[in-house]
Amino acid sequence: MSATIIDGKAIAAELRGRIAGEVARLKAAHGIMPGLAVVLVGKNPASEVYVRNKSKAVTDAGMNPVDRYLPESVSEAELLALIDALNADPAVNGILVQLPLPPQIDSQKVIAAIDPAKDVDGFHPLNVGKLGSGLPALVPCTPLGCIILAKKAKASLAGLDAVVIGRSNIVGKPVAQLLLAENATVTIAHSRTRDLAAVCRRADVLIAAIGKPEFVRAGWIKPGATVIDVGINRVPGDAGKTKIVGDVAFAEASAVAGAITPVPGGVGPMTIACLILNTLRATCAQNDVPAPNLDLSGSNQPHQLSRLPPA
Ligand code: NDP
Repeated sequence: MSATIIDGKAIAAELRGRIAGEVARLKAAHGIMPGLAVVLVGKNPASEVYVRNKSKAVTDAGMNPVDRYLPESVSEAELLALIDALNADPAVNGILVQLPLPPQIDSQKVIAAIDPAKDVDGFHPLNVGKLGSGLPALVPCTPLGCIILAKKAKASLAGLDAVVIGRSNIVGKPVAQLLLAENATVTIAHSRTRDLAAVCRRADVLIAAIGKPEFVRAGWIKPGATVIDVGINRVPGDAGKTKIVGDVAFAEASAVAGAITPVPGGVGPMTIACLILNTLRATCAQNDVPAPNLDLSGSNQPHQLSRLPPA
């Protein structure tokens, strides 16, 4: 058996195209141009590349990128003052502060200072609480991307056994909440889980968000399962170069799984597409405009993510 490859790059491109169409309609019908502010502190090369990619995606979608670069030495008070200004700026509909932040800054304080209506990362405690309570919320981008990809393979996740490896606030916990909202039966595994392989073998949907290269082996996967690999791990490649691999041993896992995301080209591209999606949803909510009706599941099953109406 050879798994269907869930092509995150193509699915993200399609989603971004649909978002661009909705942005154009928003402009034509209401004169509204969504704006996304991305705040980057310091000079982390990986973050700089990521922020550049985000800006390009924002521009490609017809939105307004508002990038703010601050020096590594910036004080917490200065960063909080910038957040206040962005909260008050009507041209800014979404705010994302690139993490990690330097040690003099309390990340939780900064996240909590963002207006929850503009919290396109979905990390504000209010949005986290709403997601946990099954209320409409802005939800974190990578987990949202995972669910959209999983639903490309299985249109309904209702009643399926889902196992998430990882319990971070950024990926593991929110993706587990989203799976629950999709009516899956959810297990969250982590570093203290006993017999992880046996737990994973129960999964119809397996989501790996661990940060350990090729950690999940073929023998952990239930035949025919949908495997979503969130991991981004840099390992030595050919000719002294590094290459990126996921948390799942892709080659052997694809011989057992029914559908699997590659790394790169799986979850990664969906993160930025979902950021743009969240910015569009936030803009509509802030302007009392009906939320865009984007078919997130595929061509033949138009639906919203179950129980999660747009923010
Ligand atoms: P964290 O380091 O915050 O969390 C890792 C989780 O994996 C923890 O809950 C940890 O358990 C668990 N874990 C670690 N070792 C084991 C083990 N041996 N057995 C079982 N569980 C284990 O990572 P993130 O959630 O932030 O990221 C996870 C991966 O996803 C990384 O590779 C990251 O680069 C990638 N990522 C990719 C994104 C994308 O856009 N594609 C976006 C965000 C992240 P415990 O809590 O017990 O320590």
